[in-house]
Amino acid sequence: MLEYICTIESFTHAIIHSLFMLINIHTHDPEKQDNQQIIYNLIIPQTDEDLESFPNESTPNTWLSAGIHPWYINENNQKNQLEKLAKLAKYQDIKLIGECGLDRLKGSPLPLQEEVFIKQIRIAEEVKKPLIIHCVKCFNELISIKKIVRPKVPMILHGFNNNFHIAQAILERGFYVSLGTALLNENSNAAHLLPKIPLDKLFLETDDKETPIIEIYEKASFLLKIPIDKLIDTIFANYLEICS
Ligand SMILES: [Zn+2]
Repeated sequence: MLEYICTIESFTHAIIHSLFMLINIHTHDPEKQDNQQIIYNLIIPQTDEDLESFPNESTPNTWLSAGIHPWYINENNQKNQLEKLAKLAKYQDIKLIGECGLDRLKGSPLPLQEEVFIKQIRIAEEVKKPLIIHCVKCFNELISIKKIVRPKVPMILHGFNNNFHIAQAILERGFYVSLGTALLNENSNAAHLLPKIPLDKLFLETDDKETPIIEIYEKASFLLKIPIDKLIDTIFANYLEICS
């Protein structure tokens, strides 16, 4: 009986995999799995020496994001970091700009993070590509920056696991939200929030975790009480909507 159930289950998985493409909007792992489309993140390095050889890994046919992470801004070399990003941003494989953003707990002083973030928003605007954003305890600053800079490109907040009050504030201002492994814990903010996020504003990701993206889709489908194929389809459509 157990074997029978397993067979049905693998069969269902096979059908799911054959029809739909799972978008993993933000990962630091270049390994692709079947029927998955990852957006592999490249962090712009800090020194001239590293910038010169960057990117040094070959990632053919991989969709990428590239940005200056707020933890890795080089105060004395940000101009060269930004120049490198501006060049890469034009490449066809670069689908998103980031992760970039603001972090109150780590990285360079906040005013410098804000300055470099705004410059990356301008690069994204120039190439008309969406931004993937890292934000830790800086939501007021993020909202103010969006209000002042008024970017037309979509902005996705990645690894979102904050309270409803913050979620409401950012959704009202048109941000997209990407949820990750926090969803696997049903007591997390992300799990509580998920049913309140409009489906057309939702993405899923693994970030720096080894959890297979299918597990995050399965959990989200369970929490949302919608079939997994519908969820996969919707998120793929969200991707096409902002990245094509
Ligand atoms: Zn990340």
